[in-house]
Amino acid sequence: MSEVLVWIETFHGAALPTSWEALGAGKALADKLGVPLTALVLGENASTVAKVAGEQGAASALICDDATLKVYRLEAYAALLTKVVQERKPRAVLAVATTRGRELLAASAADTDSGMLADISSFEAQSDGGITAVRPVYAGKILSDAAVNAGGTQFLTLRGRAFRPNAANAAGSLAITQIAPALSEDQIGTKIESFQEAASTVNLGDAAIIVSGGRGMDKNPKEAPAGSANAAVWKAQDGFANTLQPLADVLGGAVGASRAAVDAGYIPYAHQVGQTGKTVSPDLYIACGISGAIQHQAGMRTSKVIVAINSDKDAPIFKMARYGLVGDLYKIVPAVTAELKKRLGK
Ligand SMILES: Cc1cc2nc3c(=O)[nH]c(=O)nc-3n(C[C@H](O)[C@H](O)[C@H](O)COP(=O)(O)OP(=O)(O)OC[C@H]3O[C@@H](n4cnc5c(N)ncnc54)[C@H](O)[C@@H]3O)c2cc1C
Repeated sequence: MSEVLVWIETFHGAALPTSWEALGAGKALADKLGVPLTALVLGENASTVAKVAGEQGAASALICDDATLKVYRLEAYAALLTKVVQERKPRAVLAVATTRGRELLAASAADTDSGMLADISSFEAQSDGGITAVRPVYAGKILSDAAVNAGGTQFLTLRGRAFRPNAANAAGSLAITQIAPALSEDQIGTKIESFQEAASTVNLGDAAIIVSGGRGMDKNPKEAPAGSANAAVWKAQDGFANTLQPLADVLGGAVGASRAAVDAGYIPYAHQVGQTGKTVSPDLYIACGISGAIQHQAGMRTSKVIVAINSDKDAPIFKMARYGLVGDLYKIVPAVTAELKKRLGK
């Protein structure tokens, strides 16, 4: 069957919000190719997630909530995706370029000897059936053009927050088909015993607004309490909690950090943005007391609007910022937060 198939990635039975962006991109591709859009939902809660896929534009869904697929395991998921591709011969398979999305689609593309465009930020279907795409490379410094030729199934993983989800339509009708797993439990080598929740639950990848702090956070004018083991660390931690967090809260955003800030113990590693941290692409990125080293830029360069607050007018971050405020973040951030509270009625 000719269709566009989108894997809806889930965790603990809930879809990743960026999966709906992949479905939105899949719908645009399906409409262009004149073929139906099918969602593939595997694991816990698959039928509930599939119903949401119907509201988000899928015409049909293939679901399997067998116990072997309860949590993601490459062998089980790839074997089933490969079976689906071999049987249904979709024109394209899409997923978000998460660690799992990249792994799963690459494995299935290799198993089916298909073309693959990984981690793309935009794509276009050509009139001959091929697909051209843009891929950010070298930490986003270069945008490369890549293409897969027409024929066979084409696998695409899409950068998070680079595509738009469809407008939800509760009236969307959906045909759900139950499919069987490809492997039995004794054919799957990986066993998942349990998950350990990270101490910090920040989800920077999905955040539309991020307020980040760097080494400059230790310039907090507050006095550290007597007996503090390290006054600079106390000041910076207080600054993250009581200066940056309120700005993030009023904007409905998340708090990020530079590596210098996490290495110094100002905030947990889960908040790190950059080459060795998270790659983010929010609508608004506010960098406070961050110089803008190349390794930090690598993680936030594709933010739609960048605002920099830095006391050094020559800091490299100003070269990439759309708006720059030269001055002390401990004066600017509280003033901006207070003004936003007023304007947003919070
Ligand atoms: C292999 C490798 C991987 C790396 N990966 C990452 C990564 O993933 N992410 C990352 O961020 N870095 C990474 N780094 C580190 C990177 O090179 C920089 O050292 C780091 O980003 C600097 O962090 P910063 O901007 O917070 O600190 P700094 O460069 O020290 O900048 C602090 C800034 O704060 C400003 N400032 C000071 N006081 C105030 C104030 N009161 N108000 C306003 N501004 C003030 C200063 O003017 C300065 O510009 C990596 C490095 C290497 C070698």
